[in-house]
This record gives sequence, structure tokens and C-alpha cells, in this order.
Amino acid sequence: MTILLSTLNARYTHASLGLRYLLANMGELQEQTKIQEFVIGAKTTEIVERILAHKPRIVGFGIYIWNVEETNKVVGMLKRVAPEVVVVLGGPEVSYETNEQEIVRLADYVITGWGDVTFPKVCSDILNGPKPIMKVHAGHQPPMAELKLPYSLYSDDDIKNRTIYVEASRGCPFKCEFCLSALDKTAWPFNIDLFLAEMEGLHARGARLFKFVDRTFNLNIKTSLKIMQFFLDKIAANPDDPVYAHFELVPDHLPDALKEGISKFPHGALQFEIGIQSFNPEVQTLVSRKQDNQKAADNIRWLCDHSTAHMHVDLIAGLPGETVESFAEGFNKLWALGPHEIQFGILKRLRGTPIIRHTAPFGLVFDPHPPYTILANKHIDFQTMQRLVRFARYWDLVANSGRFTHTLPVLLGETPFQSFMAFSDWLYANTDATHRIALDRLAGMVQRWLAHTGMEAEAAAQLLASDFAPKGKTAHAHHPAPQRQARHLAA
Ligand code: SF4
Repeated sequence: MTILLSTLNARYTHASLGLRYLLANMGELQEQTKIQEFVIGAKTTEIVERILAHKPRIVGFGIYIWNVEETNKVVGMLKRVAPEVVVVLGGPEVSYETNEQEIVRLADYVITGWGDVTFPKVCSDILNGPKPIMKVHAGHQPPMAELKLPYSLYSDDDIKNRTIYVEASRGCPFKCEFCLSALDKTAWPFNIDLFLAEMEGLHARGARLFKFVDRTFNLNIKTSLKIMQFFLDKIAANPDDPVYAHFELVPDHLPDALKEGISKFPHGALQFEIGIQSFNPEVQTLVSRKQDNQKAADNIRWLCDHSTAHMHVDLIAGLPGETVESFAEGFNKLWALGPHEIQFGILKRLRGTPIIRHTAPFGLVFDPHPPYTILANKHIDFQTMQRLVRFARYWDLVANSGRFTHTLPVLLGETPFQSFMAFSDWLYANTDATHRIALDRLAGMVQRWLAHTGMEAEAAAQLLASDFAPKGKTAHAHHPAPQRQARHLAA
């Protein structure tokens, strides 16, 4: 074995689609290439030892925001103990500001952008000469038809135990300045019939959980409908063997034909991730996000009321021009629409994204270390930003977890953001913790908070008990998720 493709995934269940694309497109070198994945948190020495056990001549690492620091250590150690092994880096984290990075200094070669075609070319030059002169290679983007699809490379073990990531298109035509996809300029679709034939193969091999990484699933409605029909056919043919699909949607583009398709899905078969990011038109203009807020809100409400899809909607705090008050207004508006989960993100300065043009005018201060989270800006000082960070963490534990189905609406009252912020501040003051709060302790704290805000102790205890009764507690009362789906979501 000559070439090892490796990465550190965020979790074991995340099977790397990127590595499988590289392997699928290795051409003559495919026979000599293997994948070895790790999970962040593993010991550096063990990772290096396991890599070297393959006796590779070249190791290609996929570098992402979540693994760059740990992979930096791996590459550093690998080059110390086996300097003859050639290290080639690729992935979004090393595709921009490339020469400013320690990991790039340690590596032999870097491929920026698309690696599918350029990685095998660089490997071939390393092995057969003449050796590449340049350290940094801009990845060549071939016509989509020339890319070999990687789905047969998911092993039976992957299919059985891990999330299967798939993509019907790459790129995004929108230009939201905080997002790496803003640099794509457009979206490139794969041939839909070939893609669906691959999905057929995966399904025949037992895959039931498909996570689409397309940035905008509902861009081309004809294609979206074909993909949905694929899943509807599978469900119709075998209702007792359900399939589950996850898509990212742009919220203001939901024509009737798509609504009709969506409404045919049974409970537990669909999950939508929808980016709202901000409901503030001034902020949207500042970050070049084009969004019809009224349509977006109408569509989210329609999906909540008329579909069985699990709805996960994203907001970002810390954007230029967004105050705590305007964020709160957007949060309350979104909560009233009824999604199952509000993913409360804090702005990050992803390498290469144009958001930095606002640094001076809006006083944006980012953590220089991954994931480059915003620490303060002109409208939100550091202390307040930390309160928002804790809000996001507690929101996950209390609201998004679905553990406090009956209690949550009472806790939030008429002003969800303000109520939860008060709870969050109190919880932090009384526990000094944001992680590792055991569920029974958290439930006890919620009960104390309700009593603290004037609820009869007995009524608070009963309310909490209704959530922690032996049955029926995992769904979100706001819009309950079915059990089967809850199981998928834990994946
Ligand atoms: S935030 Fe979504 S819509 Fe905007 S550029 Fe990124 S992927 Fe595209």
C-alpha cells in the first residue's frame, strides 16, 4: 500500500465523503490507495502509529475546521518520526490563507479547492517524477461528468453503523459573507440519473439514513422532486422498512409542486435544515444574504403545520449590525413559527470568507484559534457574547434535546429569548457549568428556576414530572418529533 487517505472525523458515525471521492478518482493509483479514518480526541501517538503500520509513502489528510488543531499535531509527529513519508493536505481549512498556517509549514504539499483530480496527479508526480516543484497546488475543477461517484466505497460496516453522506450537487449560488460556499459563485449538479442509480445501490445494500450535503437542496425543483420521488417510492414499496433523508433548504423557495411532494412523506422520514441566520433586513444586506423574510416565515410555518418533516432552523448571533435586541426579535419570531429545533450558532470567521471586510467598521473581534468564534463586536461586548454562547449551550440541553417537552413553553412564556436568557444567566450563576450537567441535576435546576420566578413549588414539580414520566417525553411539545425520527436524530 502506497497512499493512505486519512482524516479525523468529528464522530465515528460521520463517514468521510471527501476521502471516498478521492479514492474513487485515484485512477491507476486506486489499487495502492487505502482509507484510514480517525475520530477527534484520539491520542496523537496512536494515530501516527496506526498510519505508519500501513507503511505509506504518501499520506493525504482532509483538513477541516474541527480537526485542524489535532491534525497539526499528527502531521508534526509524523514528520518527526517518519520524515520520508510525504504529507499532502487538502480540504476547506487549508484552501484559503494557506501560507499562514502552521500545518501547511509542516506538510510537503497542499491542494486547495477541489482535490478529486489534482490529488491523484500530485501523487503520481511524487511517485513517478518529476517531483512537483510547487508546494501549493490549486485544485482543478473538472466537468461534473468526469468525476467518479464514490458511493460503492461505503463499506457494509459504514452502511450499517454510520451516517451515509451523499451529494446531488456541489456549491451554492448565494453569497452570504459568513459562509465558505459564498465563494462558489454557482452550484454544479451531478447527473441526477447516475446519482439516483447510486442511491438505488446504497439502498439495496441496506442504507436507510441518507444525509444530503447539498447546500441548497431546493434550488432546482425538478431535481428536488426526482430525489424526493426516489424516497417516496422506497417508502411505498416497503412501508415497514422506512428510509430517512436529511436536506438543507433555502427557506424562501418552496413552490407548490415541492410542497405537494413534501406533504406525501410519512412521519419520521424527512429532516430539513433551514438557514434563516437573521431576520434583520439591515444585517442581511450587510452580509449579502438575499432572503425574502415574509416568504421564508410563511414557508417555515407551512412546513411546521403541513408536513411531518423534522425542522431544524439556524440562526447566527454576532453578525455585523445585529444587536442583542434585534437578534432577540428574530429568535422570538422564529420560535413562534414552531420549528422543532432552533440551532443557535455564534458567528465564526471561516478562512477565506468575505465577512472580514466588516472587521473595522463593526469592530469584529474573533478568536484566532479554530473555530474562530466571534468574541465581541461594536454592538455586543465580550461579556454579553459569552452570555449568548451559554444561552446557545443551554438551549441545546433544554430545548433542542426535546427533554423538557411540557416545561419548555412555560419556561419561555411570551418572550422566549428574554425568558431563556434570564434562565441561562441564573443557571450559570448557580452551577458555574455549561457542560456536563447531568439530566437529573438540570431538571432540578429548571424546577428551582420556575419556583424562583413565582411558580408554586408543587406545580413546578408536577410540570417537571410530566416530562420525566416513564413514557412520551422525548418529543418537543411545540411540534413533537416521532420516536423513530428521534432515534435517527441521535445518530
Ligand atoms: S449560507 Fe447557505 S445560502 Fe448562503 S452562501 Fe452559504 S450555503 Fe449558500
